[in-house]
Amino acid sequence: MLDRLVDDFKNKCYLCEQDKLTSINIEHRIPHRDDVNLKFDWNNLFLACPHCNNMKSDKYDNILNCTVKTDEVEDRIKLKLDSFPMSEVEVVANRADERTRQTAELLHAIYNGTTPMKTKEAESLTSKLDAEIYQFQQQLRSYMEAKKHGDEEEMQSLRRKIGYSLQKTSPFTSFKRWIIRENPKRNAEFGNLFEVGE
Ligand SMILES: [Zn+2]
Repeated sequence: MLDRLVDDFKNKCYLCEQDKLTSINIEHRIPHRDDVNLKFDWNNLFLACPHCNNMKSDKYDNILNCTVKTDEVEDRIKLKLDSFPMSEVEVVANRADERTRQTAELLHAIYNGTTPMKTKEAESLTSKLDAEIYQFQQQLRSYMEAKKHGDEEEMQSLRRKIGYSLQKTSPFTSFKRWIIRENPKRNAEFGNLFEVGE
């Protein structure tokens, strides 16, 4: 069962989106509170890192479901990190409903911490996030550079890399997609890479 869950979730935490998890928890999206149906319902089992599992506990019992397209998690919640270090991860709820509000609050706690210990954990998470975003921005810069020089071959190769970075299998996908989405020119250039392979 664990193998299938790791495979289904691409070994990524469903909440913070870090990948290559070395320590994993099976998370009940809806807290089971000893209800056996919820406890063993496959659709209620999610893969999470210990930091997120602990942060969520059963305090957040009505969050959006990232595996259901109609929940539109990516539209409802905007995630952004800029000018790291010494800046908070920005979590914006784009809708006013309770589930969106709760999910945004949880994600804010996950990325920015609450207690001193949780803040330390969050810092280690955001340094991974920062490295990924930096690499992604380098890819975008190199692409624009290649485009300026009309280097078709290099453009092709970079488009593949950028496309890969935007796929669900890649870590912190939501942040990278928002980098594209929030800017009309970037969206025109790379927006069509989102759907490949989904
Ligand atoms: Zn996590």
